[in-house]
Amino acid sequence: MRLSGALLAASLLVAAGACSPPAENTQEAPKAEARWCDEIPRPENEAFPRADVESDWFDVYRVAGDTFALVEARQFQEVISYLIIGENEALLFDTGLGFAPIRPVVEQLTSLPVTVINSHTHFDHIGGNAEFDRILARDTPYTHANENGLSHKDLAGEAAPESFCDPVPGEAERARFHTPVWAPTGVVKDGDKIDLGGRVIEVLEAPGHTPDALALYEPARGLLWTGDTYYDSTVWLYVPETDLDAYERTIARLAALPALKQLLPAHNTISADPARLGEMKDAIRAVREGRAAGEKLPDQQVLFQFEHFGVLTSQPLLDGARGDKESGGSGLTTWE
Ligand SMILES: [Zn+2]
Repeated sequence: MRLSGALLAASLLVAAGACSPPAENTQEAPKAEARWCDEIPRPENEAFPRADVESDWFDVYRVAGDTFALVEARQFQEVISYLIIGENEALLFDTGLGFAPIRPVVEQLTSLPVTVINSHTHFDHIGGNAEFDRILARDTPYTHANENGLSHKDLAGEAAPESFCDPVPGEAERARFHTPVWAPTGVVKDGDKIDLGGRVIEVLEAPGHTPDALALYEPARGLLWTGDTYYDSTVWLYVPETDLDAYERTIARLAALPALKQLLPAHNTISADPARLGEMKDAIRAVREGRAAGEKLPDQQVLFQFEHFGVLTSQPLLDGARGDKESGGSGLTTWE
């Protein structure tokens, strides 16, 4: 998910490594040659002011007003969670890998009550959910399955030494890594408007990458938090719970939102140009109509490279197969 278009060779290694058969629990770490560590902290992120917080794991940037990006740059997923602060309360859009506690960082940024909403329930966005007592979640079977968390075995490759930049966390810390069980305290659905005091955030259901994907939209500022639906890298659209029909509808809907000024994606870089949504809409159509040249990878994956991003999908999805959308998923599962 962290792969930049400029690093195609590296991306192939990581794409292959992340998807070894037969199931998610055999996921491998990226190969050493594919290390991205020389690129972090990314210059695109360093263009934003750093927030004054103490953390040896999160890089925290102020991206727009009282909006902070909490970047986990030292693990190869380069996950980004966002803290959106109003006058009365705050929203935390995703809780990261869970490799290091996120709540102490959040509490350095706000003393207001914090509600968690997840962009979707793949492991890399729900890792800190268990640290919070206010979580709004989609009421879908997929979401409920993922409330059970994930074992270390399921995520072992994510905690392998090769998955980190220096200083690589110690063995004991890595051996503990898993996704704890978490419990929603309420439901969130399309069209919900969350008034934080002085700023109103709209919830948009954005199925495709997963059945329970969401985007957040702040019309007053032209901000759109895209989750994994869009980021400036190789967008992963290959797992069995991905639905390409739904993804196309979602991208078309997001691309048509008025007055967008900035995308705030969930991997790699904390800002993207809203014009990319229209480009992705065209790209995914070209992929599905057979007008784009893809590179076949192991595990039935196919990689399509475009100017500003890539699309990593799988042959069964291109052939119209429908995967299980109810049993949950880590985000690392391959087609059998
Ligand atoms: Zn992700």
